[in-house]
Amino acid sequence: MLRRALTKKSIDHSDSGNFSFSFFCDKCGKEWTSPSQPFTGEDSPTIENKDALKLLWGNEHRAAFDEANLEAHLHFNLCPICDRRVCDDCFNIAEKEHGGVCKDCCAKEEEQQT
Ligand SMILES: [Zn+2]
Ligand SMILES: [Zn+2]
Repeated sequence: MLRRALTKKSIDHSDSGNFSFSFFCDKCGKEWTSPSQPFTGEDSPTIENKDALKLLWGNEHRAAFDEANLEAHLHFNLCPICDRRVCDDCFNIAEKEHGGVCKDCCAKEEEQQT
């Protein structure tokens, strides 16, 4: 089956002809959708066997998910404190000490310091 998605919430939009996935920021829920990838077996004249087609779809579906999941790393930052994946809007890169933390954790740290 599919590997675990990078973010807590994700949606699989894939159908018989295309593969596409959405990932959501763990903090604000902002959506990022991976570019849709066509299923190569759809118009393939060489594949007449339905089972073979299904198998091929499954393989490409998994590969497309892995790719989308990898690309999602560029859109969602891991907060090392609360272990959530958050979008750039929810991430404070200025917190260099930790290599960047989410804004929730950043606010908490500031509270503790005062
Ligand atoms: Zn966000
Ligand atoms: Zn955090």
